[in-house]
Amino acid sequence: MAKEKSLMDVIVALAKRRGFVMPTSEIYGGIGSSYDYGPLGIELKRKLADLWWRDMVRSRENIVGIDSAIIYHPRTWEASGHVDGFVDPLVDCRQCKSRFKEDDLLEHAAKAKGIETPPIKENGLHLDPDSPEYAKLPCPNCGNRGTLTPPRAFNLMFKTFIGPVEEGASSVFLRPETAQGIYTDYPQVLNSTRLRPPFGIAQIGKAFRNEITPGNFIFRTREFEQMEMQYFIVPGTEDETIEFWKEERMRFWRETCGIREENLRFHTHGPDELAHYAKSAFDIEYQFPFGWSEFEGIHNRTDYDLKRHAEYSGKEKDLMYFDDQTRERYLPFIVETSAGLNRALLAILLDAYHEDEVDGNTRVVLKLDPKLAPYTAAILPLTKKDGLPEKARELFNSLKHEFNVFYDESGNIGRRYRRQDEAGTPFCFTVDHQTLEDGTVTIRDRDTLDQPDRPKMEQVINLLRDKVYA
Ligand code: ATP
Repeated sequence: MAKEKSLMDVIVALAKRRGFVMPTSEIYGGIGSSYDYGPLGIELKRKLADLWWRDMVRSRENIVGIDSAIIYHPRTWEASGHVDGFVDPLVDCRQCKSRFKEDDLLEHAAKAKGIETPPIKENGLHLDPDSPEYAKLPCPNCGNRGTLTPPRAFNLMFKTFIGPVEEGASSVFLRPETAQGIYTDYPQVLNSTRLRPPFGIAQIGKAFRNEITPGNFIFRTREFEQMEMQYFIVPGTEDETIEFWKEERMRFWRETCGIREENLRFHTHGPDELAHYAKSAFDIEYQFPFGWSEFEGIHNRTDYDLKRHAEYSGKEKDLMYFDDQTRERYLPFIVETSAGLNRALLAILLDAYHEDEVDGNTRVVLKLDPKLAPYTAAILPLTKKDGLPEKARELFNSLKHEFNVFYDESGNIGRRYRRQDEAGTPFCFTVDHQTLEDGTVTIRDRDTLDQPDRPKMEQVINLLRDKVYA
């Protein structure tokens, strides 16, 4: 590994160079922490989302999917508690005009030993601005003390307007999570299906948060995608449900996506870490270069959300589940699994990055699981002559309806292999002169560099099926 550079810098550079992830609107200088997914990145992102959908929705009889609008009725956010509760306390430095999240200020102060113990959280704020500890806090930027303003609550939701003129138009929010669309759709889903608790509703979609300190590449951005599943359960079954989903979700990241076990762990939320809606919460964390951090949360949201929507909509009866066997009517409890698609993609890229020595040269290789690799295979005619491209295209055409395969006939074969290594392509099939004689091709394995027996061209599709649908 190029030690002089951090792994994060290496990944950011590779992502841009090879078209995984790149800054948005770059010709205008970009816009802070907004990224676009390039030709390889969109394939990886789609495959990850599809795998999640296959694992969470298609392979389970009691989970269905939806795709709700991004702009919901504004009452949704009053009911959910986001209008009042989705806030980050902010502090300004009067001296250098920098702005900080109160959390970051505390962390900085604790690290610099500026304060002995973090002050107790009060009224949603950690710091009491009238306390002597507060006056002693240094500004993380200029280091001055006594220059910080009292914390102010800042709502993280993006507000916008429906209607042609701002005045008089109704204000709405871009959703900060996909979960609420599931809760408000749940009575309609129930009417169109025959689901009974426990059952789940899943969705993948964009969410927006006006983050004060976005950063670490695509780890924290203001616009991102969530893969969420809300599981509606009989009250009293939360604990076993949480255990079930903790196991399922960890299995998905380890076994289905191939993230290394040593880089994954659970973190249990302490009472002061819990979101306003949650009774218990567990994070799945990845060991990012900047430290262990969450990329999926598993939360016991109790009946908080449905209760609030019942109250704010006046539709309590619609939101209750009627059990026709016990003749009971009740509000289901909810356990959610909430993963960030972009954050998980970052974890997968970091985890896949390897450097090794091949023929005295450093080789960069992304050891992506074949299920996730943007290209499942590359088809390479050894030369551009002697009918080899025609034969290679034949192979390409036999695979293209089922797999994303890459055709490349330019440059020397070693260089073509290297490009595929960097893209994470698990298999390269080379069409050479022997192909013309016996219809076989070489297969090169990205990770082992082995070139085992030559398969027949018509066997290649089954070979890929075995790897990808395993
Ligand atoms: P954090 O503490 O990092 O802000 P959170 O606890 O607020 O995250 P949740 O509300 O539980 O996150 O959202 C579920 C998932 O959505 C997170 O695990 C993460 O993967 C993703 N996510 C949340 N905020 C962002 C963001 N700003 N950028 C990218 N992904 C995000």
